[in-house]
Amino acid sequence: MKYIERQVNVPLCAVSTTSGLVNKTGTWKFAQPLFIDRVSPCNQQCPAGEDITGYMYLAGQGKFEEAWRLIMEENPFPAIMGRVCFHTCEEICNRKDHDEAVSIHTVERFIGDYALSHGLKIIVTQTEKDKKVAIVGAGPGGMSAAFHLRRMGYTVTIFDSNQSPGGMMRYGIPSYRLPNEVLDGEISRLYDIGIEFKMGVKVGKDITWDSLESQFDAIFIAIGAYEETSLGIEGLNKDGIFNALEFLHEIDLGKSPKIGKRISVIGGGNSAIDCARASRRLGAEVIIIYRRSEAEMPAHGEEIEMAKEEGVQF
Ligand code: SF4
Repeated sequence: MKYIERQVNVPLCAVSTTSGLVNKTGTWKFAQPLFIDRVSPCNQQCPAGEDITGYMYLAGQGKFEEAWRLIMEENPFPAIMGRVCFHTCEEICNRKDHDEAVSIHTVERFIGDYALSHGLKIIVTQTEKDKKVAIVGAGPGGMSAAFHLRRMGYTVTIFDSNQSPGGMMRYGIPSYRLPNEVLDGEISRLYDIGIEFKMGVKVGKDITWDSLESQFDAIFIAIGAYEETSLGIEGLNKDGIFNALEFLHEIDLGKSPKIGKRISVIGGGNSAIDCARASRRLGAEVIIIYRRSEAEMPAHGEEIEMAKEEGVQF
């Protein structure tokens, strides 16, 4: 058996060089299998750049720690991504044309949970470098950069104005989709490898930019995209009207915003669905109002179906 030379020896895939229709009666000896090494569609589609075929192969052999370590080469948050990523890898899976896509994200979630329940740790093998990096923003981008830089041996400090790290993962995704213990479990590994978190510190207010520049060799800005789209109509500042991020943030802080019994959510994206489902959990009757058809909603189809199952009206 030939193997692809990667970190994981996934067997090469043999493909036919010709259609079976060209030879209905004769011998097939002339048709030799061709071994092709190509990056699979799922690997190409993964925004985190994970070696999906590699870790699926390892997981299939029961090598869950090895599978986890392979994911961690690219992405420090498999238990999180296995829950909240919209698994674009599965949209393009070849298997879906046969019956259904391989459920990659559930395997990723299982591997992430396996690592959490078995207390698997990140191993930093690089020698320490005499360089310090400041990262502004403790969201997924900032923490991923910190993780990779730390593994390369840099001393890393993250600054964030919130009290807890996680950014959008903590304050923009409801905990029924991403439980705080999973989020905290994955983030705790970053503390374990020596990344320093300075929370509740707003750069530009609590610490000056000049001070950062003088203390660090490099600065990475990962402040995210918190700007929301406005409806651009009058009356948006009245009581009982919330914007999505403010609403989800309050819920994550354990508050129960006063939304009343019957609410409408305007918009058809994933944040709208999150707000609608979170409102259902607060006991409200919820109607989503969207200007186009359901097929044109930017929200993920799976999320729309789950919202319907939970009683959200469209
Ligand atoms: S579910 Fe995981 S493997 Fe699939 S695209 Fe998202 S991060 Fe990549």
